[in-house]
Amino acid sequence: MSQNLQNTALTQRYQPVSIVGPFQDPGSCWFLPSKHSGATPAIMDNKLSPTFAQKKAEVKLNAMPWFHGKISRDRAEQLLSPKEDGLFLVRESTNFPGDYTLCVCYQGKVEHYRVKYKDNQLTIDDEEFFENLSQLVEHYEQDADGLCTQLTKSLPKKGKQDFCVDTKAFVEAGWVIQEHELELRESIGKGEFGDVMLGILRGDKVAVKMLKDSSEAAQKFLAEASLMTSLRHENLVQLLGLVFNNKNKHIYLVTEYMSKGSLVDYLRSRGRLHVTKKDQINFAFDTCSGMEYLESRKVVHRDLAARNVLISEEGVAKVSDFGLAREENFTLEGGKLPIKWTAPEALKQSKFSNKSDMWSFGILLWEIYSFGRVPYPRIPLADVVKHVEKGYKMEAPEGCPPEVYEIMRQAWDLQPDKRPTFRGVKEELGQLKSKTV
Ligand code: AMP
Repeated sequence: MSQNLQNTALTQRYQPVSIVGPFQDPGSCWFLPSKHSGATPAIMDNKLSPTFAQKKAEVKLNAMPWFHGKISRDRAEQLLSPKEDGLFLVRESTNFPGDYTLCVCYQGKVEHYRVKYKDNQLTIDDEEFFENLSQLVEHYEQDADGLCTQLTKSLPKKGKQDFCVDTKAFVEAGWVIQEHELELRESIGKGEFGDVMLGILRGDKVAVKMLKDSSEAAQKFLAEASLMTSLRHENLVQLLGLVFNNKNKHIYLVTEYMSKGSLVDYLRSRGRLHVTKKDQINFAFDTCSGMEYLESRKVVHRDLAARNVLISEEGVAKVSDFGLAREENFTLEGGKLPIKWTAPEALKQSKFSNKSDMWSFGILLWEIYSFGRVPYPRIPLADVVKHVEKGYKMEAPEGCPPEVYEIMRQAWDLQPDKRPTFRGVKEELGQLKSKTV
């Protein structure tokens, strides 16, 4: 997947619309915006845990070009033109929020069929039930089955199209872990979606992120987990699988266990006394390698920071949370943006890109070389953007090699295209790494 995932997979907003799977509640499915699927499945061979070495395929999402979101009945009728028999689209129902409407042309008119939820499934006629809209459309494309006509031609939505993800796709691609295989131990952290626990899976330690319910967050989480199934690199925290508990509707996301915790905690707790120059350049190089991979896949992280880099037992740094959904209000107005880590164009115009990740990487380098200090230490948060926009750049942390500081300065160029690529920076850090003892 993702050759065609153009800098957007993690940069988009997720729009809640009802659909999908055993976890589905009306209003709880998350449609992914476009460019999130469509390429050949990559086969995963998990080396992290020898007992878990089965091949896994990438989870693809269901494209829904015919889904037009919240448009009115009148608008749907305007769009469906010329009114050839079988031309159709699907919209969100205006009269029954959470339900949908299938609009089909027949004999010069448009018929509007209500698609409603019943027992967490979609139905038009209370006879045929579907897990999601894609399945419903597919069915009526094959057979009119009571509709005025068979669906023959979809009216594709212009611009950003939607995708939907369902649990079945994870099952089919081999990413599902049975709950009884996983032993849960103590809590090891708290994340955006809930607790992170230590677990044992087939004899290996793993980290388990728990999502407590079938809420919107859970569905967003699934959508993003599907992206994680396509990414694999030694400097990215690896997804091992998902546990679906149908009874209490928990979803667990199982990843490799990073015993030394987050980079920022590592730096702060060990400090100058224990973190060596070699450790610092290794962390910088490892993180840059993970980011170079994301850059090569045209995936944008959007929340790169030392708190989102984890350290393994062997001291390898790996980028984490690269596949996780960002909050809906991950905007300056919404107040969720990590202001001190985010590039000005991303803050102001939501222009997230590999270049805005590079800005964040510059901040992360500063965190590494200041042993985990909070960036812009003397500037109140409210004033940071103002200063940065005027071209203010942080000074080099004490003892920071000039080559590394130069990378930071380049990363903080106000013009995104003047910032270096991760590929280029990796090379520079590699040279420095080989000189550092
Ligand atoms: P997160 O939800 O990724 O922000 O995780 C919250 C905290 O849980 C992190 O700061 C870590 O301390 C811990 N944590 C998350 N993932 C892992 C992991 N794979 N291995 C070990 N600890 C983790």
